[in-house]
Amino acid sequence: MPTALKGQNGLETHQENSPKTKVQLRQPQEAKQNVRPALSRSAERVRRQLVCTAMSTATPIEIDAARIEELTQSELETLNERTAASERMYERARTSLSGGVASSYQLRDPWPIYLATGEGPRVTDIDGNEYWDFHNGFGSMVQGHANPAIVRAVSERVALGTHFAAVTEDTVIVAEELAKRFNLDRWRIVNSGSEATMDAIRIARGLTGRETIMKIFGSYHGHHDAVMVSIGVPYDEIGDRDNLASLPYGAGIPHAITELTIAVPFNDADAMERRIERLEREDRKPACVIMEAAMMNLGVVLPQDGYLQQVREITERHDIVLIFDEVKTGLAIAAGGATERFGVQPDMVTLAKTLGGGLPSGAIGGTERVMSVVEDGSVYQVGTYNGNPLTMAAARASLQEVLTPAAYEHLDGLNERILAGCEAVIERHRLPGYAVGIGSKGCVTFSPTPVVDYESFKASQDVAVTELAWLWNMNRGIYMTPGREEEWTLSVTHSDEAVDAYVQAFDEMAAALTS
Ligand code: PLP
Repeated sequence: MPTALKGQNGLETHQENSPKTKVQLRQPQEAKQNVRPALSRSAERVRRQLVCTAMSTATPIEIDAARIEELTQSELETLNERTAASERMYERARTSLSGGVASSYQLRDPWPIYLATGEGPRVTDIDGNEYWDFHNGFGSMVQGHANPAIVRAVSERVALGTHFAAVTEDTVIVAEELAKRFNLDRWRIVNSGSEATMDAIRIARGLTGRETIMKIFGSYHGHHDAVMVSIGVPYDEIGDRDNLASLPYGAGIPHAITELTIAVPFNDADAMERRIERLEREDRKPACVIMEAAMMNLGVVLPQDGYLQQVREITERHDIVLIFDEVKTGLAIAAGGATERFGVQPDMVTLAKTLGGGLPSGAIGGTERVMSVVEDGSVYQVGTYNGNPLTMAAARASLQEVLTPAAYEHLDGLNERILAGCEAVIERHRLPGYAVGIGSKGCVTFSPTPVVDYESFKASQDVAVTELAWLWNMNRGIYMTPGREEEWTLSVTHSDEAVDAYVQAFDEMAAALTS
């Protein structure tokens, strides 16, 4: 059996392969109403970063399942041999930590790989194995590990007091900076992505007086009940596209809460509007649509031309709060995240991950109108650790000194290089797949057809190759995010050498698979 990889939304592994067709080229988003122009990128760079290219001009080959299984077995044995200290740590850890980990997303069979250190683009495990880090803490470490600017800011701050539950100036500076980047006037600070989406939804409900919320089927927005719905669920129970079922993700989520969350397919604005109209007729109009502008948990799935503009127009017309969950995209794919990159302005944005440079962080941005319900005290947006001085010192240093325009130029250039390298490998070996990415994010999607939503992801992604790729990378010094739904995250400290190592490992795997 292949090793079990636990990703951020634990999708199960059944798949059916669909016929092979050429992957479409995508065009850049065009400015329409309610749309602000994308900032500061050359037209060509934006175009390149929004393109999902065909994997091969020739007909892709069929990869032999027995060969995948054989390679998976031998890579698993190799990794087990290389991680004996992790095995010992697991035996110790599991007696006090449930499953030997701090979060179920850190689980792995037969044991997790325990890490010791990180510096720049490199991490080291407790066996002393060194890796180029493409996992980057589930996409949090765009600054690279132990970035000197953040180390300095946190070190200076720690001696001045680590927590007051009162505002320090750094928090004001962070809010000012975020307001500029995301074009949203008012901010609140939290400690994680889940807190950000939880509070954003409460604010939308408080503002509109409605209880139903809408999300995209298959999207992950954190681990609170309202959004642990319609992700990683039994595929045969999801129903048809116009009437997707509201299914809990795991036990312990009340039926009454699940029922309030309605999911619609990504990249289908008409389906969204039809569902909104039906909910209106049923007197259950949603308070908000919460969505990622580019889905980051089915690999990378970019919005099709005009989709986000249509969503913006529909939500505005129906007076529904549009929340872009930028926990993964914000500060990682552009200075102003997906909001800047795609040029569509939501009413609210949720941030976390990259914001804190490795310290637990999160933020909610909103228009003055939306945040008025926080300011007039009708919605409680609270938390003891909100605006913790250490986190805010790290965030300020990150925003002012690390995630500069030059940093995003560097990330775009590196991503172009790794995407082009992966595309060349795919072409050379005629693999059924394609490389897709934006900003610091990207992946190779092992699918003969383009993935545009959860349905196409489930239907066509080759799970077995995805799992082999993770093992293969680990044994060649490439630390990749585990899980069939994850992507790479580059950091500002990555270099050509790092991304070339990734492409080299991929090339070797492709050769082994096709020989
Ligand atoms: N929203 C999105 C889009 C995410 O990807 C995640 C986590 O991966 C979250 C919210 C939850 O963030 P956290 O794990 O910090 O609670």
